[in-house]
Amino acid sequence: MGEQKKESFRDSIGTIDESGKRAWIFPKKPVGIFYKYRTYVSWFLLAFLLGAPFVKINGNQFLLFNVLERRFNIFGFPFWPQDFHLLVVSMILGIVFIALFTVIYGRVFCGWVCPQTIFLEMVFRKVEYAIDGDRGSQIRLKKQAWNPDKIRKRILKHSIFFIISFIIANVFLAYLVGSDRLFEIITDNPLNHLSGLISLLIFTAVFYFIFAWFREQVCVIACPYGRLQSVLLDNKSIVVAYDYKRGEKEAGRAKFKKNEERPSTGKGDCIDCNQCVDVCPTGIDIRNGTQLECVNCTACIDACDFMMDKVDLPKGLIRFASEDNIAKGKKPVFTARMKGYTAVLVILTGLLIGMLFLRNDVEATILRLPGQLYETKENNVISNVFYKLINKTTDQIENVSIKLLSHDGQVNLVGDTHLVVPKQQMSEGTLFIEISRKDIKKSKEKIKIGVYSNDELIETTTTNFLGPKKF
Ligand code: SF4
Ligand code: SF4
Repeated sequence: MGEQKKESFRDSIGTIDESGKRAWIFPKKPVGIFYKYRTYVSWFLLAFLLGAPFVKINGNQFLLFNVLERRFNIFGFPFWPQDFHLLVVSMILGIVFIALFTVIYGRVFCGWVCPQTIFLEMVFRKVEYAIDGDRGSQIRLKKQAWNPDKIRKRILKHSIFFIISFIIANVFLAYLVGSDRLFEIITDNPLNHLSGLISLLIFTAVFYFIFAWFREQVCVIACPYGRLQSVLLDNKSIVVAYDYKRGEKEAGRAKFKKNEERPSTGKGDCIDCNQCVDVCPTGIDIRNGTQLECVNCTACIDACDFMMDKVDLPKGLIRFASEDNIAKGKKPVFTARMKGYTAVLVILTGLLIGMLFLRNDVEATILRLPGQLYETKENNVISNVFYKLINKTTDQIENVSIKLLSHDGQVNLVGDTHLVVPKQQMSEGTLFIEISRKDIKKSKEKIKIGVYSNDELIETTTTNFLGPKKF
């Protein structure tokens, strides 16, 4: 029964009350060394997140996720639909990396790196502290009747939230459609870019909803990575943890009395001040153990260290530790599971680097036109094919010519014979391939074709050439 009571907090999440309604969290502003480092990390990440779509390397946007046109740039490296396998390997690599990281260090990514937390805790929450004040003032303001001061604060806060959401929406759009296109949408006649403007407003509304209202619910309810925690973590994973052995001892936790000599009382080092609960942005009590809501933000470590200092007890009652560290006093070990993930990570990284080096800058595809067969002319067979040349480089490819490599014969471009492929673009059209009948041995002859630029071979490809069944 006692055990049932102890575990009953696991039956619901910290942000939903007993009647099923949203329990609004008013986290106390954290102060401490971890918060200081988180702030530094957040400056770097905010600069990165807000700047990455506006930085170009060799003319390529640093990060681009143009899903509609299926064009992606990762660290200035362009991926075309033809490079989809590379993108898949990169994504698997990212997932394995995050999984490995979680197995070893728990959910620290969420509290320190995830854009949701960075924007919520380091941007929106700071605006809130500046306007509404710290936890106590926020609670009072919430309860207070509507008066001019409350109305002014609410209008000011939500206007700033809306403006920040609009800025984030612009940057988000730059990730999706490219910064050049975003500038066009902003600077051109709005009527020419109605769909772009509507997207911008929808994204603004979504970000405003998330950061002004939905907040920590993203991490607690919506984020699939949060759910994965329960399968990734084990007793050896290092997480933000309460040292219950030290905190409770034989006599359990207890409030601190003035001039008390806690170590000699038999009571635990936890002085039951509730500061770790008050600072928690997901509304949990870390003293109950690792919980799915915990984003490892370390705010409770700072709060507890501050209190330990005050009562002259050693810091680290809440700290980064594994269950084995606390329960058995064991040091962290590199487990078989960690070794396995590391091996997969190394193999995938090697695979990706190999694939990137082997990737062609120019890609040629030559296909038979659907429904077209072949013609015969004197002693030659002529076939009509479709070509597509993709230039993944940032330089235009000049004077392109296409030649037969495997057979004697001719390749003639239909239409404009001066072929160039602009940078980061593709050219397509049709070709006549003419081969002497005596050189065709099968009705479906495999032929090899070379693509040249200024007479230098830049790509080879193969296709099937249809000829008569009997010779
Ligand atoms: S329990 Fe601590 S680390 Fe976890 S979310 Fe709350 S304050 Fe952050
Ligand atoms: S902050 Fe530390 S001392 Fe205070 S209740 Fe939390 S664990 Fe106990």
